[in-house]
Amino acid sequence: MGSLFITSALLPVPHGFATRSGGVSEGRLASLNLGFTVGDVRERVEENYRRLATAVGAPLGALHTVKQVHGDRVLQAAGGQNTPTLRPQLGDADALFTEQPGEWVGVSTADCVPVLLVDPEGKRVAAVHSGWRGTDADIAARAVEALVARGSRPERLLAAVGPAIQQCCYVVSEEMAKHFATRFGSDVVVARGDEFRLDLSRAVVLTLRRVGVKVAHMDVLQDCTSCDSGRFFSHRRDSGRTGRHINFVLHRF
Ligand SMILES: [Zn+2]
Repeated sequence: MGSLFITSALLPVPHGFATRSGGVSEGRLASLNLGFTVGDVRERVEENYRRLATAVGAPLGALHTVKQVHGDRVLQAAGGQNTPTLRPQLGDADALFTEQPGEWVGVSTADCVPVLLVDPEGKRVAAVHSGWRGTDADIAARAVEALVARGSRPERLLAAVGPAIQQCCYVVSEEMAKHFATRFGSDVVVARGDEFRLDLSRAVVLTLRRVGVKVAHMDVLQDCTSCDSGRFFSHRRDSGRTGRHINFVLHRF
């Protein structure tokens, strides 16, 4: 059994990008499915969350999530509890942050780009879900701006960009390739003959740079969720019938 999650050496607080190892779900959802709306047995998903919380060493009642809608809204999480029960989702958003010690925030993915932000100085942590729509809407920039509005300095922020569908597997239409090349620069698209591949993680990195996050303060994991079926769920690879990962960061400085 592999580890329940992988981490970045850059971040100085507990965090992780969950893999599919170590859970109790079966079949296409085996085994650490953390999505309640993908056809899994609810009790299994709850057990998977309990296992994650045990591995992390934090109460489930202090984990905040959001109802992700591929938009650009950022919410502040507060009021978590030291209980073993999952809280309801905060609301419609694709990024969230907290300033409260002991709390943790997480976003759900299966190919989309997860970003974890840490401000070691102002003591804030954020989680961002950036699919192609959210990337096009600059959700990572909105998250940085939300932290800056609370007093964070962008040049002090640390960012870990997690496992996602990489350009090896992310074939897109010519129209979408052209749109992203116009928005983010030609190096986010690789053209091979009449096939176009999008480097979504790269577009997210460029978004973070534009709002002042330093390149030296970013760790971009290269793991491809579509290539590695042993470790990751992939919405594309599995034609939408797959599980969900949680990508989380704790306010524990
Ligand atoms: Zn791949």
